[in-house]
Amino acid sequence: MTSAPEIQNRHAPTQIRVMAVDDEPATLQAYRWVFGSPEVWADRGAAAGRQPGAGELPGRFVLHTCSGADQATQALRDAIAQGEPYSVVFFDPLQGTTEEGVSTAAAIRQLDPDVNIVIVTHHAELRPERIAAQVRPLDKLLYLQKPFQPHVLRHFASTLAAKWSAERALQRSHKDLEQLVAERTRELERVNNQLRTDISRRRDVERALVESQERYALAARAANDALWDWDLISNRIYYSERWFRMLGLEPGEFLPNPEVWFSRAHPEDRQPLRLAIQDHLEEGGEHFEFEHRLRHADGSYRWIHCRGLAVRDKNRVASRFVGSMSDVTARKEAEAQLVHDALHDALTGLPNRVLFIERLQHAIQVVRRNPNMLSALIFLDLDNFKVVNDSLGHWAGDELLRAVAGRIDRCLRGSDLVARFGTEQSLARFGGDEFTILLGGIRDHDDAIRVAERILRELSQPFRFRGQEVYTSASIGIALVDESYDDPSKLLRDADIAMYRAKASGRSSYAIFDTAMHERAVQRLDLETALRQAMERGQLHLQYQPVIALDSGGICGFEALLRWRHPNRGLVAPGEFVPLAEETGLINPIGGWVLREACLQMSAWQRAFPARELFMAVNVSSRQFARQDLARQVRSTLEETGLEPGRLKLEITESVLLENNETFRGTLEQLHSQGVALHMDDFGTGYSSLSYLHRFPFEALKIDRSFVKQMEQGPRNQELVCSIVKLAHALGMRTTAEGVETEEQLSWLRQRRCQFAQGFLFSRPVDASVARRLIEEAPSWAD
Ligand code: C2E
Ligand code: CA
Ligand code: CA
Repeated sequence: MTSAPEIQNRHAPTQIRVMAVDDEPATLQAYRWVFGSPEVWADRGAAAGRQPGAGELPGRFVLHTCSGADQATQALRDAIAQGEPYSVVFFDPLQGTTEEGVSTAAAIRQLDPDVNIVIVTHHAELRPERIAAQVRPLDKLLYLQKPFQPHVLRHFASTLAAKWSAERALQRSHKDLEQLVAERTRELERVNNQLRTDISRRRDVERALVESQERYALAARAANDALWDWDLISNRIYYSERWFRMLGLEPGEFLPNPEVWFSRAHPEDRQPLRLAIQDHLEEGGEHFEFEHRLRHADGSYRWIHCRGLAVRDKNRVASRFVGSMSDVTARKEAEAQLVHDALHDALTGLPNRVLFIERLQHAIQVVRRNPNMLSALIFLDLDNFKVVNDSLGHWAGDELLRAVAGRIDRCLRGSDLVARFGTEQSLARFGGDEFTILLGGIRDHDDAIRVAERILRELSQPFRFRGQEVYTSASIGIALVDESYDDPSKLLRDADIAMYRAKASGRSSYAIFDTAMHERAVQRLDLETALRQAMERGQLHLQYQPVIALDSGGICGFEALLRWRHPNRGLVAPGEFVPLAEETGLINPIGGWVLREACLQMSAWQRAFPARELFMAVNVSSRQFARQDLARQVRSTLEETGLEPGRLKLEITESVLLENNETFRGTLEQLHSQGVALHMDDFGTGYSSLSYLHRFPFEALKIDRSFVKQMEQGPRNQELVCSIVKLAHALGMRTTAEGVETEEQLSWLRQRRCQFAQGFLFSRPVDASVARRLIEEAPSWAD
């Protein structure tokens, strides 16, 4: 049991409400001093006799002063009505007679049976024992001689208030307990009257419940939950009405047998439940708490949160085990849903990246323990998903992803595959239009290839949404999960590299990762890093190759060609790094630099040789066209460098037109209207036809050097070049022959009225200083 000082501590009220009743204003004033500010009195003692000043800490006391008995009883009545009773009343029986004291004290006691009454008086004839004889209880009536010492008064007030509030707490507890016990008793009466008569048991329960406030809380909760009460000695258990109802059963449907509980527990939870109970009873922990599933009458399992408490004897041996159960199925389901959502893709319902990586990790562990347990990682990326998304809208994109997921899933569930590899295949949406498959139980590459081929075949069938046929294809990378891997990220990286390989070799294909692939990928990465640095470190520069006007035989312009002066590798040709720059997007800053550099150069030559009408041809990659602002970039570069627009030619390959994109067309038109000429580069190597070409504002065609080279091989190839020139002329375009290396080629082209030529015969691409000398010297290749 709790000792007295503990009660005082625990129940020491934060505020003590005190009433003082006296007809002398000076005494009331003294009360105010005493209870006004505790610090003043504590520090300086009663002698200080000073009023607490403004701003001093407020005391723990709330003092109410009254000058008469009527006033006091009224104030008490109000306080009780408001639920804020006083803990102590100090009063002076006004006339100083015993009768007066008895009647006031009796009135106060009648109003408030709990309040402590302190009679404070200097009337010598007052006989406190007589008052005490008539006003009970004795321990709530005290006597104090006037004039009082302030600290004595304060001490009285604090001690009495602590006692007072401890009593009240105890009263409340008793009331709660009584209520609980009454409820409990009512329930017990209905089912089992054994307990009701067992008063000593009930006292046990009462004592156990009183022992700690937490136990109180448990019992209170139990009032709302299902209850059970297990007599460990007779091994009978009482289940409350709610216990049965919670499981869809009729109250009392089963015998009071603990096995009923265990037999309804989920098979997986049964043993853990028994162990947990056993532990609790033997080890004697404070609380028993356990979550498990119980079978409902409808056959489903409900999640039950179970709390309990053992009642122990002096030797801590448990004789009884009581507790509650609540149905937490809804919470459990919500939790499970949260976990599911965190690990699955909302669109397709497939596992997401997080869950997949977890499984991959597991597969790696398996193969590291047992190298025969091979599996394969298949990484699949849709080839044209962006086109579907952009042209048909996100709705169709979502539909496509769902349908693709469905088809892959069906592929994996195909009976022959299941027979071969089992059902442990795991498909995930890895992100965007990427899917990953973990193919377990394979023997070698061939197994994975068969699955990849099957998937590619399935996906090549058209999809149908809202009456529209949509085609898609995928590229697949395969990596074998073998014991050389220690980390899912490396596996994913390798499968990804293989997937890019597949994509590069044409759509709808697969590739298997090998180490050479990895090395190439690493090299590419190195190259990319080096190229970025090349920009910053000024390792890029331009060479210029003269273009000859075949009628005059003189130089009429230059083509700017990009060079990379690599610190270790020497001069690197653009063929080795421009494609990479295009892939990585580095071509944008590089192309911007090329344009500016070439324009600056030509602008300088223009000033140096004002009489010469020279142009500068700059190569522009289709990737640069993808940026909306190419036309603006060109205009501002021209303004900045002071080059006339008419002197700039942009060389573009056919791939720009193949994109058949309205933005590209718009950009071409804008450039044209700015006065910048467009030249079609490498004509004949792509797919575009002349008729198609004439819809775009091209000034000239550059006949690819492979045609020029083939001319020597016979009249048929000559005819091809001849017809290109003729058709170009018919469409109002001029022609430039690339790669002219011999006098024969030159004279032949001249006869066929090709306007311009370029090639080693005239000059290789040269540095700016050499090109400048060429302009000065003005060599001529006239007839
Ligand atoms: P291209 O636009 O067709 O450039 C002509 C290429 O032919 C140049 O190769 C040039 O050196 C080479 N060439 C010129 N005359 C002859 C000849 O008589 N015989 C032979 N066999 N070759 C000749 P280069 O400089 O290696 O450039 C290769 C390609 O790189 C260019 O082909 C162009 O597509 C691209 N490129 C070069 N500079 C740039 C640039 O600044 N930006 C972009 N986007 N691409 C560029
Ligand atoms: Ca070119
Ligand atoms: Ca070319």
